[in-house]
Amino acid sequence: MEPELPLVDHHCHSVVRRDLDRHAFEALLTEAPEPGTLGGSLFDSRIGLAVRRWCAPVLDLETHAPADEYLRRRTELGHTEVGRRFLGAAGLSALLVDTGFEPEPLLGLADLGALADAPAHEIVRLEQVAEQVLADGVSAAGFAASFRDRLAARTENAVGVKSVAAYRTGLDLAPERPSPAEVTAAAGRFLRAGQGRVADEVLHRFAIWCGVDLGLPVQFHIGLGDPDLNLRDADPLLLMPLLRALQPTGIPLLLLHNYPFHREAGYLAQVFGTVFVDIGLAAHNLGDRAGALLAELTELAPFGKVLYSSDAFGLPELYFLAATLFRRALDEVLTGGVEAGSWTEADAGRFRRMVAGDNARRVYFTS
Ligand SMILES: [Zn+2]
Repeated sequence: MEPELPLVDHHCHSVVRRDLDRHAFEALLTEAPEPGTLGGSLFDSRIGLAVRRWCAPVLDLETHAPADEYLRRRTELGHTEVGRRFLGAAGLSALLVDTGFEPEPLLGLADLGALADAPAHEIVRLEQVAEQVLADGVSAAGFAASFRDRLAARTENAVGVKSVAAYRTGLDLAPERPSPAEVTAAAGRFLRAGQGRVADEVLHRFAIWCGVDLGLPVQFHIGLGDPDLNLRDADPLLLMPLLRALQPTGIPLLLLHNYPFHREAGYLAQVFGTVFVDIGLAAHNLGDRAGALLAELTELAPFGKVLYSSDAFGLPELYFLAATLFRRALDEVLTGGVEAGSWTEADAGRFRRMVAGDNARRVYFTS
């Protein structure tokens, strides 16, 4: 396959602006915020091994360089140079950046795009906008209108919105658009509780429908994430009633990550015309097993419904590693099919272009 096949990364975050010691590096490598020492090091897992295999040469080291040597070299080069090398080597044609998660100051969108030599577009996190509106002293009755206005303003230059309901209430959301009285009551509950984070089934649902009303593609966090999330509640099958209700709108609905529910997600992509799927975050965590993951996703998911994302956050390595492993996975699946006589070389070439970027461009830039 063409190694230069540029990818649209339709879900990622930005990079941290500091040098990292081993502990800080490992803390950003996976979703485990405090990797313990009891079980050894994350370098002894498929993602750590993939860093040594694929990332070491980008820092001028031998393939499989030991972790300590890798981290020494990283510090020697400094985070700016490390960022430039990995983002540059990722081979991206566009980045769609979720700006709603910023536990520390991250590189701005324009600077991130400059490192990747590709345009960086914004995805607005619905719950963050709701939290900002509620923090600004709005009344419960005034919340709905204020949220709509704020969301319209925040998304003026954005290409989509995202919901993290999976993290907060889980995905068991009712299908209907909530009534104005329900929204007012939910906003009142939030304001009385003085909570910082939206975690109310009615508010998530309201925000999702508002995104749809603006005509914007809606991304959903599905499957694995940091341990805040109850993974059982992030099963995409829970979302079926809402996905079904949203079908008539024609708005693209993007199921992110999905692992270990990628087969369920593949089914949803097959049966619902507006549902799209990816294996972001999971692909680089699985390292050399990414091909098996993509093969399982596409047992049912049509190639016209599969997008690429890294879900990279913090470490520049992750943009490059995810892209490298995804290209290899795609090649493994598509070339494997050609060799087995399941489809032609021409089909494989077409699927490659669809998954690498055409599907994402159709979803975000022409719908
Ligand atoms: Zn993410």
